[in-house]
Amino acid sequence: MSFPASGLNGLLDRTPNLAAPRAAFTYEALPYRVVFGEGTLARAADEAGRLGIKRALVLTTPAQHAEGSELGHILGERLAGSFPEAAMHTPIAVTERAMGLIEANDIDGLVALGGGSAIGLSKALSLRSGLPQIVLPTTYAGSEMTPILGETRDGIKTTQRRRDIVPDIVIYDVDLTMSLPASISATSGLNAMAHAVEALYAPEANPIISLMAEEGITALARALPQIVASPSDRDARSDALLGAWLCGICLGAVTMSLHHKLCHVLGGSFDLPHAETHAIMLPHVVAYNAEAAPGAMRRIAKALDAPDAALGLFGLQRRLKVPLALADIGMPEDGIDLAAELATRNAYANPRSLDRAALRELLARAWRGEVPLS
Ligand code: NAD
Repeated sequence: MSFPASGLNGLLDRTPNLAAPRAAFTYEALPYRVVFGEGTLARAADEAGRLGIKRALVLTTPAQHAEGSELGHILGERLAGSFPEAAMHTPIAVTERAMGLIEANDIDGLVALGGGSAIGLSKALSLRSGLPQIVLPTTYAGSEMTPILGETRDGIKTTQRRRDIVPDIVIYDVDLTMSLPASISATSGLNAMAHAVEALYAPEANPIISLMAEEGITALARALPQIVASPSDRDARSDALLGAWLCGICLGAVTMSLHHKLCHVLGGSFDLPHAETHAIMLPHVVAYNAEAAPGAMRRIAKALDAPDAALGLFGLQRRLKVPLALADIGMPEDGIDLAAELATRNAYANPRSLDRAALRELLARAWRGEVPLS
């Protein structure tokens, strides 16, 4: 089997001089059903019926309790209760409270509405109970497409990857994203884009995922500035949600590299906000990896319609008016050394080897909000 050379760029990144037009790869798909569109929330009861759910528990954060009530109304007689206590980073104490409700109320299915927090809770509950899941994502974080669960106990986060926690059905309803404030849409969208960027130079990069990655970046780069300019632009919202879906597939399909490691370190050590941290770090990490992954850089630049991948991402960040500096989101300057040190421990695979001094410089520039060192 042969592929057009352009489709192999992701694979060739690690060996940029490899001339052969063929390369072996493994592609593993996850078995979810996806319903995409506007007004698809109305299909929740039918979709629950497909899974044989008769006593659903609706999961949301406290902030999305009202949307959860509307979902409960749609589920009608298939609704048994709601638990509007999902929280960032899936605290195990919250999961255990919800498990109590599941056991006491004979719950036979989970229906989560929200971003990564509500979906994380759903995965954590399914892991413990084996219950089927329907999720309705309302941000661009992409958790619904992954077999990954990060949980926290006493502030310590542990992450696991298991196919049996992948939601059975994902209902994307563009309407549910209309209320996502422009600023969160921008950072959440850049968070999604980071999954696709790192998929293009992942150790298991493959032509299928690279196609999705490039299209995901293209869609988000096109849609996010329109959303920031006009948050009620439905076409842009639809474009962004489709792009986020593609980026989520990337996150679920291949392993992530330095960018995700650094964001994990920064979030865990300094309690920095998840999406903003991703948004700030992305251009700097892309600049760091630029020479080691030229094929991926070409594809990212093309998707951004920019001459340079890192500068294109930095320019997009500025247009979206998201924070540019780690200093502005609560990172202490004297934490830079620790972050550089932690990033080199249990390092994720990365196209360029990890050099502590260079990482320190990268973090210092990100802390000050400077142009990436491209
Ligand atoms: P989130 O789910 O915590 O949501 C942020 C806030 O925005 C919440 O208060 C939420 O109620 C509100 N919100 C969400 N959608 C809204 C909407 N449409 N309108 C108005 N308000 C809305 O944030 P997130 O960035 O989606 O998720 C972050 C969490 O998800 C982190 O814990 C992160 O680690 C995890 N995550 C996990 C994966 C994975 O694959 N396991 C992937 C990405 C993120």
